[in-house]
This record gives sequence, structure tokens and C-alpha cells, in this order.
Amino acid sequence: MHSDTLRAGEQAADLPPPGDAALRFIGTIRTPWTEPGTCPRQGAGDPSPCRIIVNPPWVPALDGIAAHDEIEVLYWLHLSRRDMIRQSPTDDGVTTGTFALRSPLRPNPIGTSIVQLHRVAGGVLHVTGLDCLDGTPLIDLKPDRCAFTPLAPPRTSQPRPA
Ligand code: SAM
Repeated sequence: MHSDTLRAGEQAADLPPPGDAALRFIGTIRTPWTEPGTCPRQGAGDPSPCRIIVNPPWVPALDGIAAHDEIEVLYWLHLSRRDMIRQSPTDDGVTTGTFALRSPLRPNPIGTSIVQLHRVAGGVLHVTGLDCLDGTPLIDLKPDRCAFTPLAPPRTSQPRPA
């Protein structure tokens, strides 16, 4: 979260209202954090129990997920402003470009975390390792990519003719 006020050195883009892509939120993330500034900056290693509530139409899509100890969670950081070009996360006058940060303030505020999956009960995933506010919309769930190896060795690329 970030107010409309810019910090020293920060820069925001002058943009028309966003025409959002047609994302479908597939559920809601329940966490202990209800106030901005109370969540961890990154969830890795955080022991707080959290729940991912998957909407009913998508519950059958969870089939097989319980076999994974770790999953990747993608979520929509819905309270973020979306016009920041340069940011000063520590408000010290030093700014960095948005795409060199994992700040929640981004043009398309997608957050990702690799979480520990402890239990699946119907459409509810019990996890630890999140860093988002209670009520954050869920975009997607994927098994940790380490669980998948390429089916065939990658082909070496040939230089293109000039
Ligand atoms: N782990 C994700 C990532 O790297 O993509 C998110 C990292 S971001 C630094 C996490 C911070 O986003 C939290 O500490 C909190 O300040 C903020 N945040 C959490 N939930 C949010 C929400 N629903 N809307 C806006 N900001 C949120």
C-alpha cells in the first residue's frame, strides 16, 4: 500500500484508468494480516497459518495438488497503486525502478509466493509462507516448478541466417 503522495525522488506515470485484462479470481486468501504494513515483506519461512479458499467451480481442479509439499501461489495485490515508475521502499530518498523491485506497487500487481502446503480439506488449502493481506484475491495455483523436469533436453539454438 502506498498513499497518493509521492516520497522524495519517486516518480509516477500519468496514465488513463487501467483497462484490466479479463483475469478470473479463483478464490480468496485468508491470512492473519488485516492492516497494511503488518504483513511480512516476503512470506518465505513465515510460520503464520494461512488458508487459500478456492471457489467451488475450481475445487475439482485441485485434484492431485495434495501430493505437493510446496506450491506456487499467484495473487492480485488489489490495494496497490499501479502507476509507480520509480519507488523508494525505505523512504530514504533513494529510488529504484519498479521492475527492479518486488514491491506490491506495479502496473499489474501480481504477487507470487512459494508456500508450504500442509493440508487440503475440500476447497481449502492450509499453507504457510504467505505475505498478503486477508482477503487478497487468488489468481492461480501451480506446483513448485522443481517438481517438473523437461521432457526432452532443450535443443541448441542455431544462429539465424543474416
Ligand atoms: N511475495 C510477493 C512477490 O514477491 O511477488 C509479494 C511481495 S510484496 C513486497 C508483499 C507486500 O505487499 C506485503 O508486505 C504488503 O505490504 C503488500 N500487500 C500484501 N497484500 C496486499 C494487497 N492485497 N494489496 C496491496 N498490497 C499488499
